[in-house]
Amino acid sequence: MSLPEPLDALVVAPHPDDAELALGGTIARLLGAGWRVGVVDLTTGEPTPLGSEQTRARETQAATAVLGLSWRENLRLVNRSLVPDLEARRLLAGVFRRTRPRWVFAPYWLDAHPDHTAASRLVEEARFWAKLSKSDLPGQPHYPQRIWYYYSLHLRRVPDPLLVVDITPYWETKLQAVSSYRSQFVDPYPQGEFLQRMETQARFWGQMIGTQYGEPLTTREVLGVEDFSGLI
Ligand SMILES: [Zn+2]
Repeated sequence: MSLPEPLDALVVAPHPDDAELALGGTIARLLGAGWRVGVVDLTTGEPTPLGSEQTRARETQAATAVLGLSWRENLRLVNRSLVPDLEARRLLAGVFRRTRPRWVFAPYWLDAHPDHTAASRLVEEARFWAKLSKSDLPGQPHYPQRIWYYYSLHLRRVPDPLLVVDITPYWETKLQAVSSYRSQFVDPYPQGEFLQRMETQARFWGQMIGTQYGEPLTTREVLGVEDFSGLI
């Protein structure tokens, strides 16, 4: 079934928590500007050392409420074994046609986690399939105008982003959304190391653009602008 109104932006996340980790501030910022923003989690993200499917689902619900997302769904593909095969492409293309986002956010194409590289490729291929006519995909053809890549990296490399989003007014919201995943980022780190590292990174990117906190993004396609008023 199609949504009553198309989404402005859809974040595709390999695991529940990737959207919040890499884009929690950007999502809050877009929602604050009146955009309709959704998240599709591809897998449950479980098993993990301290998590369970029930716990992770509860944590996801809490994070979704903190952000105030317009829409969220889980495709329940297999965690740790995500493959950009035809069935997964069909499922995700169906999501694009139902939610009709203008922009899609995907994980960066290089990563150590195979689920992340698989998700990145899957987004690109599903985007192409979603526009096909004379197919048996659900809904009407739709082509998301742009793919943005976010950095939820398991590689020790410094991202080389095209731009950084100023998330300073939304830092507390991001912190609260990420902290909702207690089994992943709070309980395993009794000294708060994980959230401190996240803050250090956000401050680094903020410093690059002269603000307090930032989130980096890139794209493979040429960017066009109508005016420069949003650039800092
Ligand atoms: Zn992940």
